[in-house]
Amino acid sequence: MPPLAASPSHPVFPLPRARAITDRMKEPLRDSGFDWPALEKPAFDWPVFPPGWVWLTGAGPGDPGLLTLHALNALRQADVVVYDALVEPAILTLAPQATPIYAGKRGGKPSAKQRDISLRLIDLARAGKRVLRLKGGDPFVFGRGGEEAQALVAAGIPIRVIPGITAGIGGLAYAGIPVTHRDINQSVTFVTGHDQTGAATLSLDWHAISRASEVIVIYMGMKHARPIADALLAAGRPAAEPVAVVTTATLPGQTVLETTLGALVADLAASTLTPPAIIVVGRAVLLRQALDWQAMAAGQPPRDTDPLGTHAKAASA
Ligand code: SAH
Repeated sequence: MPPLAASPSHPVFPLPRARAITDRMKEPLRDSGFDWPALEKPAFDWPVFPPGWVWLTGAGPGDPGLLTLHALNALRQADVVVYDALVEPAILTLAPQATPIYAGKRGGKPSAKQRDISLRLIDLARAGKRVLRLKGGDPFVFGRGGEEAQALVAAGIPIRVIPGITAGIGGLAYAGIPVTHRDINQSVTFVTGHDQTGAATLSLDWHAISRASEVIVIYMGMKHARPIADALLAAGRPAAEPVAVVTTATLPGQTVLETTLGALVADLAASTLTPPAIIVVGRAVLLRQALDWQAMAAGQPPRDTDPLGTHAKAASA
């Protein structure tokens, strides 16, 4: 389906104005001059990573620049980094001294493996290692970080939790989609497309979610896009409601499909998109027409600088 077109009530700004923005964004990137070695001796007291501890750390959605300084501090001190499938490999180069251990599992597999991961973390901590448990996004958002933390605490292992930028917020920001906007929503709901068994989350109260949230952000929703779209339509969300699917967000392969709730399943089937993907339902998707900053950096003008029609309305009032 073609990108959402500007409607008569959502006029496209004349090109010269848009060009001025893009021309500035096309200026060649220079070395920022940022003094990276200064990070070796930061001006604050950074926590020391004691042996025998596990630090549950968010790696962000992919782009290594989205790591927190606490995550970097942890990476620099760790003896082992136990990382998930969604952790961008480049991030591991920030911990050259550490032994990387892959603990990937994808797509809601049974929890036996999860127990193995927790036991592994406990064993490594008991062996006196500084264990960095590195998880994609934020460790406490749909990442089983809470369960791992519980297992560690139950085993008497001291923990620290380092939050990360979650894909449902940072990934959408890279697609030019703000999860909240005063003209659109006062709430946002994050849901998972999988439950513990890996089935679609039909146990969720989609009617309540539909009523309560103008914007719905769905993690792990690709596989079950059809039942999810059906549930939202049955709950009264309009077929014309804008939807975006953002895959491999924040990384060079980032791809964004703009569609509608009614066309989501067909458009996904016709596409070559593969997970990981965030699906976002709601008018926030329209803002991408103005805020797709990556396209602008590549030289394309914004499609519509007033996609909600609010400026036009204010001008005529
Ligand atoms: N703890 C993670 C989420 C783990 S669940 C976080 O806070 O982001 C895994 C799901 O996260 C994926 O199925 C996908 O829906 C989403 N996800 C993680 N990284 C992503 C990325 N770079 N692009 C798109 N979706 C991503």
